[in-house]
Amino acid sequence: MKTRLVFLGPPGAGKGTQALIMAGKFSFARIATGDILREAIANESELGLKAKEFMRSGLLVPDEVVNEILREKLSSTDNGFIIDGYPRTIEQADFLQKIASIEMVIYFDAPEELLVQRIVNRRVCPRCNAVYNSVENPPKVENRCDNDGTELVHRIDDVEDVTRERLKTFWQKTAPLVDYYFSRDLLAKISAGKQLEEVTAEIEIAIGAI
Ligand code: ADP
Ligand code: AMP
Repeated sequence: MKTRLVFLGPPGAGKGTQALIMAGKFSFARIATGDILREAIANESELGLKAKEFMRSGLLVPDEVVNEILREKLSSTDNGFIIDGYPRTIEQADFLQKIASIEMVIYFDAPEELLVQRIVNRRVCPRCNAVYNSVENPPKVENRCDNDGTELVHRIDDVEDVTRERLKTFWQKTAPLVDYYFSRDLLAKISAGKQLEEVTAEIEIAIGAI
């Protein structure tokens, strides 16, 4: 079974949701650069100050900033891991090749209008990073996290105009990574528009877990 994984795909495709499920099932470490950056913003740390304006407007945080996050997180990971939301540029992918031996990159393929719908209805737990959807995947108690009861939040970049900007950024900067990993024989494409459980099963088949 492949245990050193990257989840690649447009915003809203379901990477975070599936990373949490798989990390829970197989005890993989989950390295989600977006979550790390949001936490830094909440803590008003130096990293947060560097990232804030880029994130608010749907742009990528500079490569050297996120590369350092990855270097630090990977150095304390010895078992399997899922990297979610990184790499997002060719430069980041080149950096990752130097510091880790990735076994498989799962590409989450989904139609654009579905992504926008999923994102505008996304709600997240600011404490444990659990992901919900007010329409497709609501919590048991309205607007409260199933895990810890924390009030869910609507990310400031999950409004429609910033979402369109993030999708544009994805197609310009990140989509070329599909060919990058395909040519290195590392890419597995899954249909991310399906029901949650079906997507999980596709990933499990791709990594050889079932
Ligand atoms: P990403 O990490 O790729 O940006 P998320 O995992 O945060 O995406 O999912 C985006 C939104 O779509 C969330 O509201 C989540 O609850 C919902 N979602 C994720 N996977 C599915 C699915 N297979 N079917 C329906 N909704 C989903
Ligand atoms: P995400 O939580 O993956 O949707 O990421 C939210 C935002 O964080 C993105 O729109 C970027 O501004 C920033 N971000 C997260 N990961 C990266 C990355 N690998 N490279 C650059 N910016 C990132």
